[in-house]
Amino acid sequence: MLRLSNLSSLDHNSKISCTAENIVGGKESSLLLDILFPPKITKLSEAIPDHHWCIPFSVSGNPEPELQWFLDDEVVTEGLYIMTMIHDITEREYHGCLQLDSPTHFNNGRYRLVAKNEFGMDQREVEAHFMHKPIEGLCLHFVIVQVYVVVGIAAVAFTGFLLMLIILKFGGNSKFGIKGPSSVISNDDDSASPLHHVSNGSNTPSSSEMGPDAVIIGMTKIPVIENPQYFRSTNSLLKTDTFVQHIKRHNIVLKRELGEGAFGKVFLAECYNLSPDQEKILVAVKTLKEASENARKDFHREAELLTNLQHEHIVTFYGVCVESDPLIMVFEYMKHGDLNKFLRAHGPDAVLMAEGQTTRPVELTQSQMLHIAQQIASGMVYLASQHFVHRDLATRNCLVGENLLVKIGDFGMSRDVYSTDYYRVGGHTMLPIRWMPPESIMYRKFTTESDVWSLGVVLWEIFTYGKQPWYQLSNNEVIECITQGRVLQRPRTCPKEVYDLMLGCWQREPHMRLNIKEIHGLLLNLAKASPVYLDILG
Ligand code: AMP
Repeated sequence: MLRLSNLSSLDHNSKISCTAENIVGGKESSLLLDILFPPKITKLSEAIPDHHWCIPFSVSGNPEPELQWFLDDEVVTEGLYIMTMIHDITEREYHGCLQLDSPTHFNNGRYRLVAKNEFGMDQREVEAHFMHKPIEGLCLHFVIVQVYVVVGIAAVAFTGFLLMLIILKFGGNSKFGIKGPSSVISNDDDSASPLHHVSNGSNTPSSSEMGPDAVIIGMTKIPVIENPQYFRSTNSLLKTDTFVQHIKRHNIVLKRELGEGAFGKVFLAECYNLSPDQEKILVAVKTLKEASENARKDFHREAELLTNLQHEHIVTFYGVCVESDPLIMVFEYMKHGDLNKFLRAHGPDAVLMAEGQTTRPVELTQSQMLHIAQQIASGMVYLASQHFVHRDLATRNCLVGENLLVKIGDFGMSRDVYSTDYYRVGGHTMLPIRWMPPESIMYRKFTTESDVWSLGVVLWEIFTYGKQPWYQLSNNEVIECITQGRVLQRPRTCPKEVYDLMLGCWQREPHMRLNIKEIHGLLLNLAKASPVYLDILG
């Protein structure tokens, strides 16, 4: 027996050979030492932002140590967004990461790694900081300001009341009535209409448009506007001589329901006598249920606006049917429905789910993704040239037709099925915060530059096969993230050039963002080059 003493983990896997020789010959035999030893954490470093955030570590031990993480002494529950990943094993040393997917300030703190096996344990700590916490002092400051405001308003109201008493007493027959607040803030249910109000050319609502309410999230005050998509600079699109085509009801034959929007049902229909060379064509008709007087006016204004929006990557509007309720808008039918559904149906999850079935969907290629992106950018170049600010650009608002033809197809607030994409503030206001830049969240400023930000998010949606941006965060956390300057991570399948483009759309300063024409040009070039490009990517 060969007795070995004072061995350490460093001797693990060492080769021990034994040779035996006599006059007839020799023989050698060897073995590798398998040394059992307690865990030792040889490395635990500061978090580094990579594809995901990573707290790198190395642990040695035999048998393989069990690892457990603590954040400020609380056990870290691992799951989809936080998990231990081992990337490499050398000589009983395990190298890996605590991988965090889009961590927020809630993930800041002291991380302790505990490694255990039957021979012992080791632990080490490291501080990790991912995001700044909202400054509570500012909220307090905000509350104090609000108290001042309330006291101020009370004082003004009291003075007003006194003045009114004086007027009633001494000047009861004055010609000038005093308008109540209802003349400023409409209580109508018009926000349920898919139509746009037209502003005086400015994209930022005036103080009267802003309404008196605000919601405070973290340190961000969000003004409540009855319906934000109403304030658009669409003057150039509302021409006095616009001829909106009217379609007779008997020419529309409904076939089946395509979906339900926030404002009414959408049907597939056959429309007769629409074009001289075809007896009937398939169309999508959008119905407007329970239209108030104001909603009707908006409906007509919207129809004028849509009549003037004509581009190969904007869904074609054929006309209206207003003979009786419900009011109807007729659009070209896009066979594959909305782009978000389409992306999900052609992503890896859908392919996996369909395993074993006869018709399996095919996964979209990068070249197809670029083709989709390029077409949306082209539609946006056109909208910008018409001084039209979309405000709700997202894949759910784009439509897919035959041969991967993509068009921007929805200009109203979206549908119930996507309600989690919106953040409700006040009664009716639904904000697509996950697609909005900081200035739109904080000041309700919507411009062509804020559309560019949304286009960046659309690119991210495309390259993640239709994932919801910041899917791992609640609405409040999203608002904090965006206002603090965090941006979405590079999707796994996204080439660097495209992610750089996204980053160009997500510059904090609106004037620093890429110009929509530049974006279109870049996407066009990438799409053209993509077959070769794909080879390079392997
Ligand atoms: P919306 O009211 O625009 O939110 O649309 C509701 C549903 O109808 C969506 O799921 C779309 O897929 C579908 N849809 C809307 N417009 C069209 C269209 N022009 N062609 C085909 N499907 C459409």
